[in-house]
Amino acid sequence: MTNPLPTKTMPSNFIRAVIEKNIESGRFTEKKWNGKPGNRSHHNKGLIDKAKIRTRFPPEPNGYLHIGHAKSIFLNFGLAKDYNGACHLRFDDTNPEKENEEFVKGIIDNIKWLGFDWNFNNDSNLYYASDYFELMYSAAESLIHSGQAYVDKQTAEQIKNSRGTLTTPGKDSPWRENQPAENLKLFKEMKSGKHEDGTMVLRAKINMASPNMNLRDPAIYRIKHAKHHKTESQWCIYPMYTFAHPIEDALESITHSICTLEFEDQRPFYEWLLKQLLKNDLLNEPLPKQYEFARLNLTYVVLSKRRLIELVEKNLVDGWDDPRMPTLIGAKRRGYTPEGFKLFTERIGVSKADSWIDYSTLEDCMREVLNESSNRRVAVLDPLKLVINNLPEEFEEDCLAPNHPKKPELGKRTIKLTKELWIEKADFMEEPEKKYFRLFPGNQVRLRYGYVVTCTGCEKDKDGNIIKVLCEYLPNTKSGTPGSDSIKVKGNIHWISTKYALDAEVSLYDRLFKSEHPGVKSKNYLDDINPESVKKTKIKLEENLVNIKPSDQYQFERHGYFICDLESTSNNLKINRTVTLRDAWK
Ligand code: ATP
Ligand code: MG
Repeated sequence: MTNPLPTKTMPSNFIRAVIEKNIESGRFTEKKWNGKPGNRSHHNKGLIDKAKIRTRFPPEPNGYLHIGHAKSIFLNFGLAKDYNGACHLRFDDTNPEKENEEFVKGIIDNIKWLGFDWNFNNDSNLYYASDYFELMYSAAESLIHSGQAYVDKQTAEQIKNSRGTLTTPGKDSPWRENQPAENLKLFKEMKSGKHEDGTMVLRAKINMASPNMNLRDPAIYRIKHAKHHKTESQWCIYPMYTFAHPIEDALESITHSICTLEFEDQRPFYEWLLKQLLKNDLLNEPLPKQYEFARLNLTYVVLSKRRLIELVEKNLVDGWDDPRMPTLIGAKRRGYTPEGFKLFTERIGVSKADSWIDYSTLEDCMREVLNESSNRRVAVLDPLKLVINNLPEEFEEDCLAPNHPKKPELGKRTIKLTKELWIEKADFMEEPEKKYFRLFPGNQVRLRYGYVVTCTGCEKDKDGNIIKVLCEYLPNTKSGTPGSDSIKVKGNIHWISTKYALDAEVSLYDRLFKSEHPGVKSKNYLDDINPESVKKTKIKLEENLVNIKPSDQYQFERHGYFICDLESTSNNLKINRTVTLRDAWK
């Protein structure tokens, strides 16, 4: 017998290659961890870290997570799982004004929904960047002490204008050569609330002539008199993202800090900062390292929180969990599943090259997963009556239909056949077009799981609309009985007894944007919104769905995959279409 390969959450990629090399070279074997994040003296009191690697997923709680975040979640949590490491959930809440508890809770729910948690070896690795404000403040002070940071009293405008360009160096600030003592005094004043927003910033002192603009003395602390969702009014200065992020990683003893490609230019500053803090005795070796991968770009959607916030605030959708939204709560309500997202992230892989993934790739993954997991039921989306003339009024007969065609162990359900049925309008044509094999006068079709019928005509109202299709059934043709296929037919249609059918409302969702790259040609992505992204209609459901409840998922035969909506009740059934059986856009 051969050894089974270790189960991995994802196929190999360049980040895995780095991790494997690091583990092999013993880069982390001496690394210490003292139960929770902290600086060098804290971790030095701890033991050798049991986690082989530490990654983190660092959302800003200023909105709900979207499908792009799912890629990052599967990557970071998946790597930790595969290499016996820990993945931290860190709320990057250094921007006081836009963040709140609703988003924190939403993000936690989303990650759990995708099947991950942040526990490792009895530690719950759920952290808030705001918990490190004190340590970040001392890190800034240490830079001032070592002459690597100064308080700049120039206006934002002046600072911007003196940064130079890609081809010309920047100009030194008049405050750049201030002594540490003076800078410390000013920084303390900033903290104490003595100064107004925008009057001064703390800047790292690096190189105003650096070819990398991010190293031209970037701002690291700003004044902001704003209430924070956790620290409330304790602070009126807040660290800039580029300063906060590397420190957060280091305090948490992160080994691989994985981010999207936009941050590639920030890596030199990330490394510069951590090296200084190592020299200043605040941090330990080995320092975290940043690795960049290509963000997910998906056609027909926007994956940017700023834009999603705009869609919600302008009421262009019905909230964050609108099933048309590319948010994870929207996707969940739409019927997309964690298994589908897992398959999707495996399929698209992780690379360093930006590209667009076609939305149909995501839909295909959902179809594949739902095809396996969904029981089958019948729904008539556009009902028209079919009357079987040669059956008596009170006729009733059970027909057997499998719950899942490929899983006989799931058994069968019974559907009542009666004289009057609902069928799809599209399954009848008075004058058939070429290659139309369904109901038309004189033609024979099978009523799925029931009998073969011969269409005898139709009835119309005074305006000429077809209101009833007429037919006669052929005895001895019932599905599953001997000789049932003595008569060969090309059409096979679904139906529901009008006597037993349930009423429901369905929302047929389509893409939220009608353009492949929203906003690229039109310049404003809002102009690309698909005005027909949802159609609501009254439908009929098979009687076995009488107890359907929110989140139940089924394949409606010949139509696609559907989910019972969150707001559905037993006397007001609401159903959402997740995805059609086949791609109608291709
Ligand atoms: P947005 O640009 O939508 O506002 P963000 O990057 O500001 O997203 P964060 O909450 O800061 O949102 O993101 C948390 C993590 O998710 C980051 O590490 C970021 O790299 C990752 N992430 C965000 N968008 C994508 C995407 N489209 N594809 C892959 N990863 C992403
Ligand atoms: Mg961000």
